[in-house]
Amino acid sequence: MKNNYYVSPILEKIRNTSISDDLHLAADFAEEYINSVDSMRVYPSDEDINNLSVFSHPLPDDPTSIRGILEKLHQFGSKATVAQTGGRYFGFVCGGILPSSLCAKWLYDAWDQNPAMFVLSPIGATLEDVCEKWLRELLSLPMETVAGFVSGSSTAIICGFLAGRNYLLQQQGYDVAAKGLNGAPKIKVVLSEGAHSTVFKALSIIGLGSENITRVPMDAQGRISEDKLPLLDNSTLMILQAGNVNSGAFDNFASICKKGKEAGAWIHVDGAFGLWAATSSKSSHLTKGIELADSWSVDGHKTLNTPYDNGIILCRHKHVLVNAMHMTGGYIQLTESNRDSMMFTMEMSRRTRAADLWATLMGLGKTGVAELVEELCAKAVYFADELKKIGFDIENEVVFNQVLARWKNDELTQRLIEKIQKSGVLWLGGSKWFGKAVMRISVCSYKTTYEDINICISEIKRLTDEL
Ligand SMILES: *Cc1c(COP(=O)(O)O)cnc(C)c1O
Repeated sequence: MKNNYYVSPILEKIRNTSISDDLHLAADFAEEYINSVDSMRVYPSDEDINNLSVFSHPLPDDPTSIRGILEKLHQFGSKATVAQTGGRYFGFVCGGILPSSLCAKWLYDAWDQNPAMFVLSPIGATLEDVCEKWLRELLSLPMETVAGFVSGSSTAIICGFLAGRNYLLQQQGYDVAAKGLNGAPKIKVVLSEGAHSTVFKALSIIGLGSENITRVPMDAQGRISEDKLPLLDNSTLMILQAGNVNSGAFDNFASICKKGKEAGAWIHVDGAFGLWAATSSKSSHLTKGIELADSWSVDGHKTLNTPYDNGIILCRHKHVLVNAMHMTGGYIQLTESNRDSMMFTMEMSRRTRAADLWATLMGLGKTGVAELVEELCAKAVYFADELKKIGFDIENEVVFNQVLARWKNDELTQRLIEKIQKSGVLWLGGSKWFGKAVMRISVCSYKTTYEDINICISEIKRLTDEL
């Protein structure tokens, strides 16, 4: 094609316009949001949700100004957010966003780095390396543990399972990467019936199915029942939990991992929010023995309060993880000395998530991380105690940040949850615990204060009186 020196009028204008005012406007709107998040509704009103119809229009032919884009997002978008970064959101297991990570993220969003290879981003590779070391220390994992930085635990779990699957098959002389699963020796999957839904999803995605699984019953607290474990062997992929998604309970790692390892099983620990218990001397008894496992998955975006899109796969067998994630191309040269991050994850191009993690850890320090964990646990205990005082049954031992509370019976508990969710004062979800309806409270944000919990208790009391 003959070069006609084409210049897009639209891009030419974008190139020649200063971004300065717009950056400041974005900061102003963000500041306004942050300053009002504690007084806004925790769940948006019907009106604010209905107003989202302003976004439903065809893509305009012509560019919109950045100011116009930001104004629309702030005017209609900010109001229709779930105020998860405030102090009274207790739904699912979420977590807020610490200021150090938010501010640092603004800076490196401007860098737009791809840490896939060292040559693509020396700073990206360096921050990943540093975070890998810090995580090993914070979580008391073996020296040889490596980390891959992924979008969240869903992906981290898939990575851990792929490593485990390949390892177990390799042990039997079967190269699954070359031969595929057709005709592969059988893998026995052992997990708790209280495993997180993403665990079942991951097994299904990696070709181990959802039916071909030994589901071990939970004890009353939600731990895997050790005395009901099947025979473990060197074709077993065993999944344990640091933090049952309902009760927050931790499996008895020390003795189960010992048994598993003696039998030659691969052990993965799903510690999406609970693995952080290892960072505080007040809760590290809960994770005792995790260091015996082979792989671990954990989120930054829950307990640690990093921004979203922050999951980590940790694996003590570097070569197994790298082989499972491996990709090569003519233009890729692997180096031993410098980190090529794509070797540890499924993606090649992605953002430098470890930067969020790095800024969060720097903003807290080792002591701050431990105190964060300790505070969340203390506040969960306080929430449970205050609920008991106004007549609730607490269905779990509150060992970490999760509380399961019940109001009289299934019907009243469910009606109460609906009322709470509509109140705008706080938000929490419902769940089933051994067949019984419960409200599930996850204390997961550094922003939550005892005063916030008192406000929630008054509102819950008012709503139960209405029932
Ligand atoms: C949240 C959670 C997951 C899934 O993690 P994502 O980061 O949402 O992908 C898996 N396991 C447990 C126990 C969880 O709490």
